[in-house]
Amino acid sequence: MKDTFVTIARYQYSSEAQIIKGRLEADGIEVFLRDNITIDTDPLVSQAIGGVKLKVLAKDEKVAREILESIKSYSLDDDGNLVKCPNCHTKQVGLYSTISDFKSLISFIIGFVSGTLPFTARYQYKCEACETSFPVK
Ligand SMILES: [Zn+2]
Repeated sequence: MKDTFVTIARYQYSSEAQIIKGRLEADGIEVFLRDNITIDTDPLVSQAIGGVKLKVLAKDEKVAREILESIKSYSLDDDGNLVKCPNCHTKQVGLYSTISDFKSLISFIIGFVSGTLPFTARYQYKCEACETSFPVK
């Protein structure tokens, strides 16, 4: 049974899944993506088939979930590195989007109401240490 695969996360875009895959592989965890080819061919299909599934071996599940847990609230750049705050240089930076899902919609509304997020920006980084907001490059 130890060679069974477990789906530990789903992503709407395969680029997102690839970044997480790279992060897990850096820790020696074997990662398999499911349906990423289909979604790259037609991104509109992603929603319908439940996104790109990120799978690991059952024996790696616990460690993999811990890693996901530790990185999910902070943003990664295109190379899979944590985004650094330009002000205080910590890496506790969250990505806020206006429209991708309900949670980010709420972040957007809170950001808009509190004046920390320009309503023209679809995506914005915000440092959780010093609360500096800065645009996505
Ligand atoms: Zn900061």
